[in-house]
Amino acid sequence: MIRGRLQDATDYKLMTIKECLDALGWNYVTNGDRFEEITCPCSNIAVEFSGFVGTDHLECPKCGKFMTDMFSPLQVTSGSCIVLSSKEWEMDDERRHWIANNKAGGIKINT
Ligand SMILES: [Zn+2]
Repeated sequence: MIRGRLQDATDYKLMTIKECLDALGWNYVTNGDRFEEITCPCSNIAVEFSGFVGTDHLECPKCGKFMTDMFSPLQVTSGSCIVLSSKEWEMDDERRHWIANNKAGGIKINT
């Protein structure tokens, strides 16, 4: 069952991992299809990875800039979250299911 376009489910702009890294101004080294040595220029410290299975959330422990997978559990209120299924939401580009928050309003569709 398709519930709609994933982009319509959020104000944040859906991006690839690389587009999120670039949007946040993070430094990284590409190695094939991998991104290595990801650091935030605010203090040149490594961003922290977290996730239930694999990595679905990257965050700078200093300034709080983060990127997260739309298919990871998303917080709705302080005590609840929602998990979207990639089977139920249509993507314009299947690599674009990450969103980024630069702590300055976030990376939204219209910015
Ligand atoms: Zn930072």
